[in-house]
Amino acid sequence: MNSIEKLAQLFRKFPTVGSRTAMRFAYYLAKLPKEKIDELISAVSEVKNKTKLCKMCFDLFEPFDSAQSLCPICQNSARNKNLLCIVEKEADLISLESTKKFNGLYFILGGTISTMRKDDMCHLRIEEFKNRIKNNNFSEIIVALNPTPEGRTTSVLLENIIKEILPNPNFKITHLARGIPVGGELEYADEETLENALEGRK
Ligand SMILES: [Zn+2]
Repeated sequence: MNSIEKLAQLFRKFPTVGSRTAMRFAYYLAKLPKEKIDELISAVSEVKNKTKLCKMCFDLFEPFDSAQSLCPICQNSARNKNLLCIVEKEADLISLESTKKFNGLYFILGGTISTMRKDDMCHLRIEEFKNRIKNNNFSEIIVALNPTPEGRTTSVLLENIIKEILPNPNFKITHLARGIPVGGELEYADEETLENALEGRK
């Protein structure tokens, strides 16, 4: 395998990137001037060095100092701590936040069941999810996974887990209202659609 193929193979692992796009990325990089490559390398290592995972919602954030373990949302005292919204990935959290209609907390699951490749299985935060719901007083848990077959399968799994560890939960479990195109993703839904889906949740 030559160096361009090797690079393309790395890009192939990126979300939504197929083998043709991966190859285009590799050629694009190969043709960039040296200083642009250096800029990219330092941006990649900076993001790795400066960010960490919030221990509550598992979003990535940039802490002020090494002692900070919660992201700005989780440590914001103005947020409603009784409301938890479960999303698949960081981009979904960003989409929901952009509506400014949700004032609760989040939990990033890290994926959905059948979309995951074998080596991604360990990224689904089932144990963390159990701990999160066990030790809190939520009044509502919103399962905001994508309306795809994988999202629905995962929603059922989460609800079964909730019933299993909390047979009589003192919170209600809700879902986003319809409106997000079937098979579509929160990440690509416009703000108004998301707002309506949040407000109409049941
Ligand atoms: Zn957080």
